[in-house]
Amino acid sequence: MIDHPIANKEYVIKTMVEITAKPLKKWGQNFLIDDKVAEAIVKSIDLDAKKRVLEIGSGLGALSYHLVKSKARVDLLEIDPLLSEHLRKVFKNDLAVTVITQDVLKTDLSGYDVIVGNLPYYITTPIIEQVLDVASTTSTFVAMVQKEAYPRINAKLGSESYGPLSILISYLGKVKTVSKVSKVCFLPTPHVDSLVFKIDFRKDIDPAFTKELTKVVKGLFHLRRKTILNNLYGYLGDKEKAAELLAKLNIPMNKRPEELPLSFYVSLTQLLNA
Ligand code: SAM
Repeated sequence: MIDHPIANKEYVIKTMVEITAKPLKKWGQNFLIDDKVAEAIVKSIDLDAKKRVLEIGSGLGALSYHLVKSKARVDLLEIDPLLSEHLRKVFKNDLAVTVITQDVLKTDLSGYDVIVGNLPYYITTPIIEQVLDVASTTSTFVAMVQKEAYPRINAKLGSESYGPLSILISYLGKVKTVSKVSKVCFLPTPHVDSLVFKIDFRKDIDPAFTKELTKVVKGLFHLRRKTILNNLYGYLGDKEKAAELLAKLNIPMNKRPEELPLSFYVSLTQLLNA
């Protein structure tokens, strides 16, 4: 195991020169250079040798270093061949570590106890959606995202950011903020600050029902400024049935999707699948 933390400016600069790599914007490469932040992220997760962990976008190994120290079995996923080759060398003596050179969007994320990552900002939402799709097979998701992305993750009913992402997350588990991270903790320095959040997933998730719920919620937010009647009509292709279902659930037809709580979407999905 490498004998010093990775998240520091000198190490990151020296290593990038050594491996002749430049931080690539196209892959959202902003490397963590504050080890206290890296350590705190990993400390927020309950890890031991029995846990299977997937890290998304390992970069030069800022978080990986602390994950590996925890003795958990760790898969490090990194799209950049230069960086993943370097990770293989850094962790070559650590038998519980596997480096996978692959695009996260083409990777099966199921079966990990913990999924963690300082996410590449250009695909934050697709990655979160992908993790939600496998929530029944995992217990914890810890991610660092640009601060602007967080309201949509933890939005309350009626707020502007309330939508499919926050509804599905509130159905699947409990989300909380772990820490706020200043942009100066990264190299190169991004334009905005970041935030780390954690989702603890429920243990009784039914994947088939979640799939249906996801379809319903996304379908009914298709036109978020339109009424729920119009959206449900668009989703079902049957106006009479849409009106009938809303009446059954005691929902006024002129409500908008952002005004309706999780319980409505769950009941509607149950009715549609009865
Ligand atoms: N974990 C490192 C850290 O904290 O310093 C790097 C974080 S950086 C914000 C995001 C990382 O994700 C980069 O190393 C980038 O190459 C990698 N990445 C970008 N797109 C990816 C993809 N589609 N699949 C897997 N990794 C990706």
